[in-house]
Amino acid sequence: MPILKLPIQLANQIAAGEVVERPSSVVKELVENSLDAGASSIEIDIERGGHKRIRIRDDGTGIPKEELTLALSPHATSKIASLEDLEAIGSLGFRGEALASISAVSRLTLTTKPQAQSEAWSAYAQGREMGVEIEPAAHPDGTTIDVVDLFYNTPARRKFLRAEKTEFQHIEDTVKRIALSRPFITFVLKHNGKVVKRFLGNKKQALENRISQVCGKGFLDQAVYASVEYDGVTLNGWIGARSAMRSSTDMQFCFVNGRAMRDKLLLHAIRQAYETVYCDIEQPSYVLFLNLSPEEVDVNVHPAKHEVRFHNARQIHDLVCKCIQDALVEDEGATLPIQSP
Ligand code: ADP
Ligand code: MG
Repeated sequence: MPILKLPIQLANQIAAGEVVERPSSVVKELVENSLDAGASSIEIDIERGGHKRIRIRDDGTGIPKEELTLALSPHATSKIASLEDLEAIGSLGFRGEALASISAVSRLTLTTKPQAQSEAWSAYAQGREMGVEIEPAAHPDGTTIDVVDLFYNTPARRKFLRAEKTEFQHIEDTVKRIALSRPFITFVLKHNGKVVKRFLGNKKQALENRISQVCGKGFLDQAVYASVEYDGVTLNGWIGARSAMRSSTDMQFCFVNGRAMRDKLLLHAIRQAYETVYCDIEQPSYVLFLNLSPEEVDVNVHPAKHEVRFHNARQIHDLVCKCIQDALVEDEGATLPIQSP
């Protein structure tokens, strides 16, 4: 076969394979876009576990009419313009892939109104070349992205969708993680028209309130506060004591520079700390925030940005491990078993 350029939609569908694994990935990408747009309130409306519909509405900056076509094109972003920007990244997004990918594997309508523009507009990408159709619409300041029939045109992916209940659990988990990382912001999660979670943004004691909203009121009562600062790296958060062990990983929340992570190095460091203090453990519960200079960490490792690469991996691992270990030991009022050299 001769070399041919792929139709845009097919190229985007292939790219979507990396970022859009299931409905919860769509929720993650779209909510992160709302946060990057400075939203203070985000509503997530799900129908049938996301199989049927995922609709995210925010009160952020909106997208100017003349940028709508670009917003839906691959490799188009307003967040970075150079490699230096990427190395000092402050936003959650930077790949310029999500909207192009999601719209290649669903029926996506973007409706938006920036404050400075008097009308709202709707955009929809169509056909193999994904030409963008733009129409006038009604919408308050902000953006709504409506994703209907996810994977309708990629049957192989659609086959891998789990039961609606399971997919919704993944969505709820994603929303909880993001809500913990942004305690000042209001999140409303609906399923089939009913409000399932309402996390109101708080001004006073925002983080403690949000942790109680997400992890339950009892979590902070038993948890130990841990914090450390070393060489520009800070770690702080609450770690569950032995009484808060669980059979699943559903209460393990870890954030790097405000981004929810399931990073292997951090998971290992945390587990090791627990294992040193309590010899046999189930799944610990914790909410931990690691902050360091963006130059010290590469977020461009995984398309869905679940993992990062630390420049000083060993140092971070040991700092996290020791901080948690010390806090647990102090809480137990016990000393560590003496380790042989
Ligand atoms: P990225 O987030 O990596 O830039 P996306 O494909 O997710 O790429 O989004 C493309 C662009 O569309 C963003 O850079 C941003 O300018 C704009 N955008 C997307 N969602 C929103 C939103 N909810 N509010 C305002 N602008 C948005
Ligand atoms: Mg994005």
